[in-house]
Amino acid sequence: MSTDFIFVGAGPSGLTGAICAARQGRRCLVIEKKPSLALHPRGETLRFRPILDEILGDGVLDSLSLSRTTLIEYFAPVPDKASRISFNMHSANIAFHWNGFMQAFQKQVDSLNIDLMMNTEVIDTVKDGDRVAGVVFRDADGKETSITADVVFASDGHNSIIGRKAGVDYQSMTNPIIKGLYHQATFDTPGYKFFIIPAGSLDFAPAFPPAIAFLFPRDNRNCEAGVCVMAGSARKLGYAIPSPEALLRVWELLAEQYPVFSDILKDATPEVVEPTLIPATAPLKDFIPQAGVVLLGDTASFIEISGFCGLVSSMECAKYWVNMIIEAQKRSEKPEDIWHEQTMRKMNEAFRMAPVYRYIKTNADRYMAMFETLFVEMRTSEEIIKNWEIVREALDVY
Ligand SMILES: Cc1cc2nc3c(=O)[nH]c(=O)nc-3n(C[C@H](O)[C@H](O)[C@H](O)COP(=O)(O)OP(=O)(O)OC[C@H]3O[C@@H](n4cnc5c(N)ncnc54)[C@H](O)[C@@H]3O)c2cc1C
Repeated sequence: MSTDFIFVGAGPSGLTGAICAARQGRRCLVIEKKPSLALHPRGETLRFRPILDEILGDGVLDSLSLSRTTLIEYFAPVPDKASRISFNMHSANIAFHWNGFMQAFQKQVDSLNIDLMMNTEVIDTVKDGDRVAGVVFRDADGKETSITADVVFASDGHNSIIGRKAGVDYQSMTNPIIKGLYHQATFDTPGYKFFIIPAGSLDFAPAFPPAIAFLFPRDNRNCEAGVCVMAGSARKLGYAIPSPEALLRVWELLAEQYPVFSDILKDATPEVVEPTLIPATAPLKDFIPQAGVVLLGDTASFIEISGFCGLVSSMECAKYWVNMIIEAQKRSEKPEDIWHEQTMRKMNEAFRMAPVYRYIKTNADRYMAMFETLFVEMRTSEEIIKNWEIVREALDVY
């Protein structure tokens, strides 16, 4: 079996890449291990950028919008209403349902006759010398099959099997996070709320590392809420990273006891509460870690740590890389010629100059510097509160 492009993983980046490639006449196979695109919602808020209309169709994202707000609010440690810092962002955060978002991708996939295999897990790569020339997948019946392609796009998210095989170290970029969706919450403003939790500041969990709890109001009284461990700062301070079970236990106590936060959630009922991982660090330097492989979306870390634009930046990166690969192929005699050392280096360099890369890198650097100041340099609740006006300036990145 053989095709032009393989996309491992049918999240926003893999599907965007396949849609862009199929629109240019490439045969694409997308392989997804889950039985349905709707399972395991990830980000459900974003800020609009034109790629959304380009990939999903004009006005589609608009039609999926549940609520929108430009208000963003930060709460000091031991929060009370007076210590809230508010900003108005240039463009609104839009909340939507994961299922509707993924259905919009599915519609494009169907109309372009893209081959999408669900319930099928990629378990290995196929090599041709040093080059990755395909993948081995296992279908729902346990049958293993190999397929070759000119390019394998790794779009299987954080801790990607393709990325790991190409030598990417995901361990150093992993941040545990709780993803929660709640009904019947009681919020006083539509603002997206962030709660700064310094290391060791929780009475009920004294060994808990630095973290940010978040709460994003949606339509009616629904909200998305969770907590993300700041793993980089935790390691610097010598705090252990909690297991998923330990994180869930702290999450339950936070929702019950943490000031302001618990008021908002006190009558709320959960629809989803899931521990997962997010690659909250700067994007990798090389998106081609090995001949034959291009990293897309979360496989390359990515991230604009504000959390709001992982989805959109992943889509923009996917489009950029698919177009660059297709252009490189047009200039080559044979498709495999693009995997020469010099061509790969040029493509990596071109991407690092691209506006989308500079956008995510600049934002990531800015957020990491901010977290370093808050969680490592100021470190304690007292210091952060004492310097709250300085913190206000550091937080004003919108
Ligand atoms: C809790 C949480 C909240 C977030 N909030 C936001 C937000 O509000 N806004 C925002 O913009 N971003 C947010 N993000 C980030 C955003 O969701 C990601 O950046 C985005 O989903 C990346 O898309 P992706 O396609 O690269 O990866 P994913 O969406 O992770 O998709 C990867 C796909 O690959 C599949 N897969 C994995 N391994 C294999 C395998 N071996 N074989 C086959 N398939 C495989 C997975 O099942 C999955 O469907 C959030 C992330 C998390 C975890």
